[in-house]
Amino acid sequence: MDQVAEPQFPTIGSIPLGTDSANPFEEMMSRFDLAAQKLGLDPGLYKVLREPVRETKVSIPIAMDDGRIEVFIGYRVLHNIARGPGKGGIRYDKNVTLDEVRALAAWMTWKCAVVNIPFGGAKGGVICDPASLSRSEIERITRRYTAELMDQFGPEKDVPAPDMGTNPQTMAWVMDTYSMHARHTVTSVVTGKPLSLGGSRGRVEATGRGLMLICREAAPLKGLTLKDCRIAVQGFGNVGSIAARMCHEAGAKIIAVSDIQGGIHNPAGLDIPAVLAHYEKNRSLRGFSGASALSNAELLETECDILIPAANENQITGKNASKIKAKIIVEGANGPTTQRADQALNEKGVLVVPDILANAGGVTVSYFEWVQDRAGFFWRESEVNERLEDIMVQSFRDVAEMAAKYKVSFRIAAYMLGISRVAHDTMVRGLYA
Ligand code: NAD
Repeated sequence: MDQVAEPQFPTIGSIPLGTDSANPFEEMMSRFDLAAQKLGLDPGLYKVLREPVRETKVSIPIAMDDGRIEVFIGYRVLHNIARGPGKGGIRYDKNVTLDEVRALAAWMTWKCAVVNIPFGGAKGGVICDPASLSRSEIERITRRYTAELMDQFGPEKDVPAPDMGTNPQTMAWVMDTYSMHARHTVTSVVTGKPLSLGGSRGRVEATGRGLMLICREAAPLKGLTLKDCRIAVQGFGNVGSIAARMCHEAGAKIIAVSDIQGGIHNPAGLDIPAVLAHYEKNRSLRGFSGASALSNAELLETECDILIPAANENQITGKNASKIKAKIIVEGANGPTTQRADQALNEKGVLVVPDILANAGGVTVSYFEWVQDRAGFFWRESEVNERLEDIMVQSFRDVAEMAAKYKVSFRIAAYMLGISRVAHDTMVRGLYA
């Protein structure tokens, strides 16, 4: 950094080292603070980077299928736009909070900078339980949420994508609602769309593919190759199921997978195509033959080489970190590991490849989708996958180099890399003038 100072860092929102917090924003800020201190970040820049640009709360009144009127609450947080438009998913979940959305938006800022793509960070969420809503209720929520945020979304302003509880269909509704108001079709306002509506080849698989590539790059640091690895995956949605499939196809042994109802385990390796077919048919892992049942807690502590938490936040905490047997953790979910767990894992010598690097394949191909929509020219899947691999491998090396140079964990190194890029561009732009 050009401006090195002895910063007096405020601690609002931060938690003391060695503490578990259920609040993802505090978890994010504690890592941010540490990385900023290691970088010797100018205190003024520190203040700029820690504050979201804008936070919006919307109320979403909906006529339910039974005629009742219900009001849902939604959020959109635009964290930083120093390097480009905001980018970040929309989450539908009953546990959505403003602090969670705020943390997820900041993670997007650092993530986009770690993989060096020209986006800032944003995130949105609606407090709802998608499993208890009909398709048409979800469509109405999506359309009203989008209409309320019409002025904030836009290809040059803030570009949503899917996250937990949302999918390509949801993105098609966002795109259509935005286009109705804009009076013309604007495919580049959202990514993760269906292929026929300006989606990118390879987008659905991108986060899982990126995780597989990171597993491949990380394995040699523990004297392994991906083919030798026994992998356990928590969460069997878009990220977890595809990461399991990609790693299986790359020759690794997937020994356990789970969803919210629990998991299945076979130390000799699960037949992943058969598990996927079973899940597709039953929407549950239960009853899969050729495996024994295990709980989510047991899955995290199971004997394996690589653990991929791909469900939600705060799964690996001060309570269970010491029981984890994996040599490497590759974070598919955002924020699955608390900073107290980080400390315990570091002491045990577990290599933790953090979310803002490991699961960045999704946003990277979202960037490709945005580029293709704006150019009106679409790439072959092999081109998408090749470019994704280039970026994931380069980013892994950049983070590894930072970790070695500053003698810090991969997590703090990734934060340092992301923060230093955003800080640099903030200074060059003079964004504080
Ligand atoms: P999803 O809704 O498709 O799947 C979530 C999965 O996690 C489901 O199988 C669900 O049953 C399971 N799950 C939920 N709560 C659980 C719990 N308490 N214990 C165990 N399993 C649980 O969501 P997704 O898109 O796969 O996202 C998963 C995580 O990955 C989220 O943290 C998300 O922010 C992150 N992420 C997603 C993408 C993407 O491209 N979809 C990209 C980057 C990061």
